[in-house]
Order: sequence, then structure tokens, then C-alpha cells
Amino acid sequence: MSERPYIVGNWKMHGTRAMLAEARAIDRAAERLIKVEVALAPPFTLIHACRKEATLIGIGAQDVHPADGGAHTGDVSAAMAKDAGAGFAIVGHSERRADHKESNALVKQKAEAAIEAGMNVIVCVGETEDQRDEGKAEDVVARQLAGSVPTGEELAEKITVAYEPVWAIGTGRTPTVDDIGTMHRHIRGKLVDMFGEAGEAMRILYGGSVKPDNAAELLAADEVGGALVGGASLTAESFLGIIVAAA
Ligand code: PEP
Repeated sequence: MSERPYIVGNWKMHGTRAMLAEARAIDRAAERLIKVEVALAPPFTLIHACRKEATLIGIGAQDVHPADGGAHTGDVSAAMAKDAGAGFAIVGHSERRADHKESNALVKQKAEAAIEAGMNVIVCVGETEDQRDEGKAEDVVARQLAGSVPTGEELAEKITVAYEPVWAIGTGRTPTVDDIGTMHRHIRGKLVDMFGEAGEAMRILYGGSVKPDNAAELLAADEVGGALVGGASLTAESFLGIIVAAA
């Protein structure tokens, strides 16, 4: 696994140009925090401007369409996102799986399109609360990994997996450190099954209500290589609190 924790902010459908000041402040501070790899995924409308304002951190897209182009009103292809300045794409976020009925197969196509366009990908997986209560969390995550992560040893370094239990996103609730470690070890095992030795080095992020005051504890869980952060990435102050905790 990469030595440096990878802390990625997902701005979701938040942000107008007024928020570029936050990206600038995060970028300035990241210069001093070289022990952490920092990235932001703003809405498509801010990718280009964020790339210009924040020159040191990674900038990515929150989604891409699987097709190269064509009659897909309102969608954005991987090549377009890359051209706007995105170096990576998040795919399979639970909000997209739920709101847009995205299947594992579609998520995989999106990941493949992003890689084909020259981007890295963060593939999100995670169980719902009912699935956890029914003892199915590991099976659900295994199926999501098998169905939505592109395979091929040469792709391993381009792929990060984010484990985000759906019930922990935006709720202020988090799994225990032990539960996170158990799931991350399970994911590691599946990645090694899928990618061989290369699977040992792939990054696995935790996401779900990560905040400055719980980040150090959650990031210390077994096999956690960083965090995917929603709400707490919207201001430089709180996002930097997480980055400092990760350093
Ligand atoms: C997310 O949406 O990826 C996320 C983890 O959100 P939050 O940090 O707000 O729970």
C-alpha cells in the first residue's frame, strides 16, 4: 500500500464559484502537508476552475458516462471530464447507485471508460443498514467488487476502492474501528483474489461521516489507506482538520 494516506473530498452537488476560495485554501495548506495525498471532486461545473485555482492537489469528477460521446443529454464523458482537468473519477457512489439505479455492470463500464480516458478511478462499495443487520454486509461488498471493479493486473495501480457503508454516509454514524478493519481485510482478500500480488498495494479508503474529531481513529483501522469525505470536505477548515489528523 502507498505510504501516504489519500484523503479525497467529495463535494457532491454543492458549490458555485464562491467555493473556489475553499479549494485554494486547501491547496495552499496541502503544500505544507506533504505526508498526505489530497484530492477534491467538485461538481463538473467547477472542475476546470478548481484545477486552475488548486495546482497541487488532485482534482477529479464525481461520475462519468460510460460512452465516449453521443446523444446522452446532460451527461459528461470521461474524456470531457479529463479535458476539463479531472485526473480521476469516482464511480459507483451509493447516491448514484440509489438515485440513478446504477448497477454493478454500469459502474464497471464507467470505471473502464475513465481508465481508457487516462484517469484513475475510485470505485465505491458498501452495504445498507438492512443488509448489515441481516449479516450480509461482506457478501454484498464482495458482489459489488466482483461486478463493478475492472480486472487486469496492469489496472491495479489506477484503481482505488472506497468502502462506504450507506448507513454511515451523512448520518454522523460510523462503524466501529473493528468493523471497519474486518471489512477492509475482507476487501483486501478479494482484491488479491482479483489482481494477484498487485491487489496487496491497492488503496482502500473508508468513507462515511469522517470528521476532524474521528479521523485519526478511523484512519488507524486495519487496511485503511485514507478517507473519502463528503460533508466535512465542504470547508477548508474541516477538511484540513481531517488532513492534519491523517498526517
Ligand atoms: C460520501 O458521500 O462519500 C461521504 C462519505 O459523505 P459524508 O462524509 O458526508 O458521510
